[in-house]
Amino acid sequence: MNTKYSRRSVLAVGALALLDAAMSSTTAQAQTQAPGSGKAPAGKPRSKQASAIKTRTASCNCGQLRVTCTGPDPDRVVMCNCYLCQKKTGSPFSLQARFPNEQVKIEGKSTAWRFPIEGAKPTPYRTCAGSDGIATDSAADLVTSHFCPVCGSTVYYYRKSDPARTGVRVGAFADPTFPPPMGSGFEEYAHPWVMNISALSMPLGHHK
Ligand SMILES: [Zn+2]
Ligand SMILES: [Zn+2]
Repeated sequence: MNTKYSRRSVLAVGALALLDAAMSSTTAQAQTQAPGSGKAPAGKPRSKQASAIKTRTASCNCGQLRVTCTGPDPDRVVMCNCYLCQKKTGSPFSLQARFPNEQVKIEGKSTAWRFPIEGAKPTPYRTCAGSDGIATDSAADLVTSHFCPVCGSTVYYYRKSDPARTGVRVGAFADPTFPPPMGSGFEEYAHPWVMNISALSMPLGHHK
């Protein structure tokens, strides 16, 4: 029991440290040397900083649609609780990262779906793609999602308001070491337990 709890605490502290590192990465990079980094071997000033170049591949479940991202850790990883994201993922929240387009290589076939839907009635709720889901030319946040026409996984998307970057669904990387979210949006639509998953009693236990 004690071991279990202490391991969980260690994990929580680790996650916080990661989040902290991710959030302060911009500041850290602006400084010449971060405090405590003197232990790093010569020639490697930033041993595990977010600036390390990594190649990560996101893919759909059947594997035909792939997005390869090569570059430093993304500077924006965000979870969203809005109903658009809930319905899109089939999960209580979405998690996505944005990468500069030039760091992204897309392979395979995808079907595009745009929101807000042209000619549709306003949604009775706010979404992260326009405030009420009305499609107008001035809608700054049109979102075009690309999903696999074979297996249905949504893998990447574009936002009209951020044309230089490609959004990738973090789950599509299937990588638990991916940087954690730096922010969360539309929390008025959130399932209340989402922010405290470790407190769930899980009467059916943990599947392995
Ligand atoms: Zn697929
Ligand atoms: Zn959303």
